[in-house]
Amino acid sequence: MLSNVTSPKLQALVIEPTQLYQGIFSHVLMGHNFNVEIVSCAREALENLKAKTYDLIFLAMHLPDSDGPMLCAKLRALPPTMNIPIIMLNSDDTKMVSQKALVSGATEVFHKSELKELTTYLDHFVTQINKEQFVYGRILYIEDQVSLAMETQNLLEDTGYSVKHYTNANDALCELLNSHYDLILTDLMLEGNKTGYTLIREVKNLSGRYSDIPILAISGISDIQRKIELLNSGASDYIQKPVLDEELLARVHNLVHMRHLLDQVEHQRTEMRELAMHDQLTKLYNRHFLMDMGPKKIQEAQRHNVPISFFMIDLDHFKQINDKHGHAMGDNVLKNVAITLKELSRGEDLCARFGGEEFVMMLSHCDHESAQNKAELIRVAIAATKIENLSITASIGVITMDATENADFDQLFSAADKAVYIAKDKGRNRIQIGELI
Ligand code: GH3
Ligand code: MG
Ligand code: MG
Ligand code: MG
Repeated sequence: MLSNVTSPKLQALVIEPTQLYQGIFSHVLMGHNFNVEIVSCAREALENLKAKTYDLIFLAMHLPDSDGPMLCAKLRALPPTMNIPIIMLNSDDTKMVSQKALVSGATEVFHKSELKELTTYLDHFVTQINKEQFVYGRILYIEDQVSLAMETQNLLEDTGYSVKHYTNANDALCELLNSHYDLILTDLMLEGNKTGYTLIREVKNLSGRYSDIPILAISGISDIQRKIELLNSGASDYIQKPVLDEELLARVHNLVHMRHLLDQVEHQRTEMRELAMHDQLTKLYNRHFLMDMGPKKIQEAQRHNVPISFFMIDLDHFKQINDKHGHAMGDNVLKNVAITLKELSRGEDLCARFGGEEFVMMLSHCDHESAQNKAELIRVAIAATKIENLSITASIGVITMDATENADFDQLFSAADKAVYIAKDKGRNRIQIGELI
């Protein structure tokens, strides 16, 4: 029974150098049922995180041996800490600082004096975690005998399920299409013009994910042939009336568990597809996707007789940024440049990270003049990137193919690449209009 279950303590790690805030944050977290561990520098934090998993991390903006965003970016790159919520706490007032924290992968940023906001966040966080832990599944339940339905609903809800009850099939079908359920539990004789058999058939005829939902039929029939028909019509399982509580719970649990496993598989498949298309660091499309989609975009432009432009964007002296300020800072620059490119592109433009510090943009419907203007805008925006005192600039090769020209992806690519070399030769931080030969 749910009421007998006490929620296990959540684990928090506070990474904060000052004793004053160590005390304040511990107090707030313990008030939200957290076990709190405190460290005061990045080195200790990494040691703790190697040894143990936490549900939440509080991270100060300034640390004696690193800075918050730098540590945050590092944690985001390590599989065990990739998905742990990281709350960054700053004492500066500038928007830049918050932006830097978010770019590094922080989940939320709070000012150290905003204790009220922090408390609201923790309230929400704990409620969500409890919901995830204790709602075992959502059940759509159809039974026309109201008193029996109430008993069963109570039994399921006491066990931790969330249950929505209907007495007829039509209302239940409408509800199914409006919300997410893990199981349909249905009687066969129902109110209205549809029986449980019809309900099962109609659910199985629905499109996509709706038809995958497991169905547990409750039947008064004992005839074995009818039971086989029921299973053949799409019911996942059945249970004989009068229903034994333990048997009902066991069958419900099995089906919901199976549904959760299938959901996980589906979720992982979607994630794999996303991962295969995107660059992990910048979240832009990756080279593989560009090589697949780029030629298609060109063919599409040719088919519709519209211009298309191709930019090759190569950061200037990027190696020096890595050498002087470290690889993590280099990564930070790449992420910021990616954000700039995304901000300056339209939904239908393709932005990809081609390789290390090389980006490609493909812009459909973009003619010579627009391409030149857009590339110049990008150059200026990259040069205006403020990260510490770094000088961040790019050389951009610009190629446009208008409706009268005919070239393929490789030709556009190599023409843009040549233009980048010319821009570098001429002194970098400039755009160079290339030529299609
Ligand atoms: P140029 O102005 O001539 O383009 O000089 P450059 O230093 O930008 O060019 P170069 O090709 O010599 O160096 C590119 C550097 O990019 C070298 C490599 O270490 C770095 N790099 C490649 N991928 C990554 C990455 O994912 N993260 C970081 N931080 N650096 C990377
Ligand atoms: Mg009935
Ligand atoms: Mg390069
Ligand atoms: Mg470069």
